[in-house]
Amino acid sequence: MSTSHPVVPALDLRGGRPIPQLGYGVFKVDPDIAADVTAQALATGYRHIDTAKIYGNEEGVGRAIAESGIPREQLFVTTKLWDDAHAFDDAIAACEASLERLGLDYVDLYLVHWAVPSQGQYVEAWKALIALQERGLVRSIGVSNFPKEQLAEIIEATGVVPAIHQIELHPYFQQRELRAIHEDKGILTESWGPLGQGKSDLLENPAVTAIAEAHSASPAQVVLAWHLAHGIVTIPKSVTPSRIVENLAAVELTLTADEVAAIDALDRADGRGGTDPASR
Ligand code: NAD
Repeated sequence: MSTSHPVVPALDLRGGRPIPQLGYGVFKVDPDIAADVTAQALATGYRHIDTAKIYGNEEGVGRAIAESGIPREQLFVTTKLWDDAHAFDDAIAACEASLERLGLDYVDLYLVHWAVPSQGQYVEAWKALIALQERGLVRSIGVSNFPKEQLAEIIEATGVVPAIHQIELHPYFQQRELRAIHEDKGILTESWGPLGQGKSDLLENPAVTAIAEAHSASPAQVVLAWHLAHGIVTIPKSVTPSRIVENLAAVELTLTADEVAAIDALDRADGRGGTDPASR
């Protein structure tokens, strides 16, 4: 394996080993190509893969991991518990099934994918993740898409603070309130949709493109470097070989304080691109 890969910083994560700050996300990656693109990401130097039961591609991800020959302890694998398995026993079984599909003995991080407040079982789901961690099936446990009320409730009910919270976050939707709560409670923030999921003009925004030109970098690299500068864990997705390489190389781009501030100024009240977790 080449040693010339970009060096990805890692952040301490409660319960497990440090989490590489930039990983490879596989939402909407067709199961038929999941093994190929994940193999490419691993060959490029990514060591952190973010999948989920609902993505339907855990088997492909697992195949790429097995065939990569990379020692398990050098990899960081996340998967997520879907909404239909929040009941305690269902959650345990769902995690075991994910591990089976991934071909792994444990995952580094297991997340409750959505709180789904209307379903009202998120505390039970969280208790199941605590049990899974105690059994050694998952190293670290966290949540995704939890409104602040439900985040507070699971901590209050169990005394166990999620190691990380994965939320929609990008320059048009900066989630300052949740990030402040995370900082207060020692929860890492992880951004999904870090590039805005291609749903907006973010990568053509003049503030972003001007910084990109100044660094001879791409707009996507500038946006990813902004996430990293804020201490956020991020997991951009691409199935395009050149972009898989380009996105990882963002770890080599350091923005100035003024450049970070210029992107901070892009936050929008209506910048959410995905589903509001409180609405489900
Ligand atoms: P993203 O912001 O990473 O956008 C991906 C899209 O951006 C690609 O499909 C492509 O069109 C474009 N893109 C990627 N690299 C580019 C580049 N270098 N230049 C120009 N365009 C580029 O959005 P995402 O995939 O939704 O989010 C990233 C990951 O986050 C997912 O793959 C998944 O792992 C995770 N995720 C989690 C949740 C959740 O509910 N927890 C929801 C969505 C995504």
